[in-house]
Amino acid sequence: MEMNEMYESLGIGKPVLEFGLKIEERLKERFQAIDETAEYNQMKVIRAMQQCRVSDIHFAATTGYGYNDLGRDVLEEVYAKAFCGEDALVRPQVMSGTHALHIALSGNLRPGDELLSPVGKPYDTLDEVIGIRDAAGSLKEYGVTYRQVDLLPDGSFDFEGIRAAINDRTKLVTIQRSKGYATRPTLSVDQIGELIAFVKSVKPEVICMVDNCYGEFVERKEPLEVGADMIVGSLIKNPGGGLAPIGGYIVGRKDCVERAAYRLSAPGLGKEVGASLGLNQSFFQGFFLSPTVVAGALKGAIFAANIYEALGFDVVPNGSESRHDIIQAVTFGTPEGVIAFCKGIQAAAPVDSFVTPEPWDMPGYDAPVIMAAGAFVQGSSIELSADGPIKPPYAVYFQGGLTWYHAKLGILMSLQKLWEAGIVSL
Ligand SMILES: *Cc1c(COP(=O)(O)O)cnc(C)c1O
Repeated sequence: MEMNEMYESLGIGKPVLEFGLKIEERLKERFQAIDETAEYNQMKVIRAMQQCRVSDIHFAATTGYGYNDLGRDVLEEVYAKAFCGEDALVRPQVMSGTHALHIALSGNLRPGDELLSPVGKPYDTLDEVIGIRDAAGSLKEYGVTYRQVDLLPDGSFDFEGIRAAINDRTKLVTIQRSKGYATRPTLSVDQIGELIAFVKSVKPEVICMVDNCYGEFVERKEPLEVGADMIVGSLIKNPGGGLAPIGGYIVGRKDCVERAAYRLSAPGLGKEVGASLGLNQSFFQGFFLSPTVVAGALKGAIFAANIYEALGFDVVPNGSESRHDIIQAVTFGTPEGVIAFCKGIQAAAPVDSFVTPEPWDMPGYDAPVIMAAGAFVQGSSIELSADGPIKPPYAVYFQGGLTWYHAKLGILMSLQKLWEAGIVSL
């Protein structure tokens, strides 16, 4: 069977495939640069595993309290080495990125302290952690106040505003690397370094934490290499490589990681407890695969940006700008566009390809949301996934793809659905 026949057998028509291949042809150089970053980061991970003498004994399961879980301890050493931290907490008991951020913040802040975000409002799920929206158990309830300095209209840091916001009580500064679902640009690691240097010039003892979600392995450097004290993320995003079925991590300064561990388990227990329940092999292997998985997801994001930009839609980031996370937004301007796109992503999935996603009223959202995900790990967004609220400007956010070929098929399928619905002409 020829390649085009293979695509046709999956439902991709000739005009769609030809349009896609024409776009792909233009991206060769960028894809090569992405492969080089993956190669570099692959070496970084292998070197860390070798230095920590990873061995098959580390894949054994522990249960119960999990005292002396060798695999867990060595996994944390590998994360610390690869991300250039003194120490790490990498656990299945950390249930999500939000949970990891919660323990990093609440473990390191005390009543009377102030938390500062100098990059605008943090990711939505932190509203209740911080107490931006009142919630039981928020930092606000424990007497931790919050201050925020927005980015300037051109997306740059408001250095004077930040200087004015730092005070006697400022204890921790939280910097979100990825734009998440905001419209600001994602920060590069160098930009984060510049911001941290400024914050520390005003108040050297401030703890600088970076929400690293979706950023891992996109660049050669990670934020700990430019002065961050802690980086925090989810294992069902980039660093789990698609294999971790759950988990979160914190890497950084030993005292910061330890305080987070006391919050995760209990004062006095810290990192000493927490059985790995047989998940260590998936964590090691997923971390090993992560640089190439991230490369595939990045190629997919750039491919989609270029396809939909060529068709006249607004895309963020645009087709040519440099990338600092794996998220792509496309604004279709109509509900039908968002729905057709998500149906295409779903139809291309290895799991649940036969279901049709529909918009629904999700708790916590003010408009119906449509989500497409045919994932091996539920909710995993390093796997190809898309979602969009059905409200103006009718934008869809998508990310992931465990392989470039799957990401490519998903995007071609989205185009196929838009074309069949008469939303685009080719
Ligand atoms: C995903 C994400 C989070 C929260 O992670 P969950 O695993 O969904 O709880 C926090 N910050 C950013 C930037 C994210 O992308």
